[in-house]
Amino acid sequence: MSYVDEVYELVVAKNPAQPEFHQAVKEVLESLRVVIEADEEAYRKEALLERLTVPERIVQFRVPWVDDKGQVQVNNGFRVQFNSAIGPYKGGLRFHPSVNLGIIKFLGFEQIFKNSLTGLPIGGGKGGCDFDPKGKSDREVMAFCQSFMTELYRHIGADTDVPAGDIGVGGREIGFMFGQYKRIRNQYEGVLTGKGLTYGGSLARTEATGYGLLYLTEEMLKCNGKDIAGKTIAVSGAGNVAIYAIQKAQQLGAKPVTCSDSTGWIYDAEGIDVALLKEVKEVKRARLTEYAAARPSAEYHEKKAGEHGVWTVKCDIALPCATQNELDLEDAKALVANGCFAVAEGANMPTTLEATEYLQKNGVLFCPGKASNAGGVATSALEMSQNSERLSWTFEEVDSKLQQIMVNIFHNLDEASKKYGMEGDYVAGANIAGFLKVATAMKAQGVC
Ligand code: NDP
Repeated sequence: MSYVDEVYELVVAKNPAQPEFHQAVKEVLESLRVVIEADEEAYRKEALLERLTVPERIVQFRVPWVDDKGQVQVNNGFRVQFNSAIGPYKGGLRFHPSVNLGIIKFLGFEQIFKNSLTGLPIGGGKGGCDFDPKGKSDREVMAFCQSFMTELYRHIGADTDVPAGDIGVGGREIGFMFGQYKRIRNQYEGVLTGKGLTYGGSLARTEATGYGLLYLTEEMLKCNGKDIAGKTIAVSGAGNVAIYAIQKAQQLGAKPVTCSDSTGWIYDAEGIDVALLKEVKEVKRARLTEYAAARPSAEYHEKKAGEHGVWTVKCDIALPCATQNELDLEDAKALVANGCFAVAEGANMPTTLEATEYLQKNGVLFCPGKASNAGGVATSALEMSQNSERLSWTFEEVDSKLQQIMVNIFHNLDEASKKYGMEGDYVAGANIAGFLKVATAMKAQGVC
């Protein structure tokens, strides 16, 4: 059996009931087959793939807190410090009821390659909790965040592990966690990114993942002889990534016509009204029904099991920006049938393996999240640089660095796909380019 297959079987056997982790490992290992098989015995002898697929450290802990009724609640907290070969662990925290160890491991594994692709010195990690901030009061969210940090603080630090936001973790949650870290450690350091602008945050960090997604999409289209201006875009999600993807798409002259949350979706033939979407989601923290109520051109569709939501809308470009495995084979078929020619992932692993394969086979330009959503973590690394210098850069300075990083990422994966004889396969290009830097660093650092 080939070394790649052996390691994949080992991962499945040793990590039962973690399907998302298996899926992420399978996609990466399949892409690496050509690289590994060119020098299989050397990789096998060093057990490089085993080391790559086993986290350096997993921390799992109890998070007790008191709700507004005086009831004690208990949640499960996680931090997976996956790989520090090229820098301190870096990756977001996710607060969502679906969080479990397998999901955090899949996200942490993806983060290794994503962070490598940015060209910045950051290793891969991820964390989170099965806590649901939805419907909680600010006091409850604060009580939870303080309890979460009361354990997490001992495992992180500005030069060790620097978490950021993800689903369910925005500026409010980062603020509460930063306050608690500072209080326990008596240390004011850039231990979290995505901070508020008055206490060490970076301009353009809020916008970075969505903006970066569009910078990369624009470059991918340009290199394939297409222009983003005038194109119709289907977007899923209505959170941080989706909102700023929609905003930047409009600035580039495209027309995003959809967005969604976990209960329903919007089709707005006149194009999404970003100011209204921000008011509904960022200020009121309300459902999309409120968007539809305030906007006559918008149709609201309740989410129903078995229906395909935003992917049934006719579009040129699709940007999945909600969550993992939200775009399946049926969705991919609907997109192709409707003439969609490009898909770039804003979320982490939103497209199933079968859907990815179908899109690629049907000539759709496809960019995986570990490349196209890397703008968030890249700008987090720029926030770390500003914190170390004790300086703040202007919005334009950060935004132009972000744009350059995204353009470079696209060219790196494009070149890697060509070098290994898989031109246009940006999944393979991203995995190979991300892997080579990490593998070289791991080899140089010996058995560790
Ligand atoms: P947010 O919490 O801000 O928004 C998530 C959005 O997706 C919400 O509209 C949410 O709806 C929707 N959503 C979440 N889960 C589901 C589900 N199971 N079904 C349908 N809709 C769902 O998160 P972000 O925008 O920050 O993150 C979105 C994706 O982007 C995630 O995959 C994340 O890992 C990835 N990402 C985020 C980065 C960042 O900088 N924030 C960086 C790189 C990747 P509802 O409110 O109803 O739950």
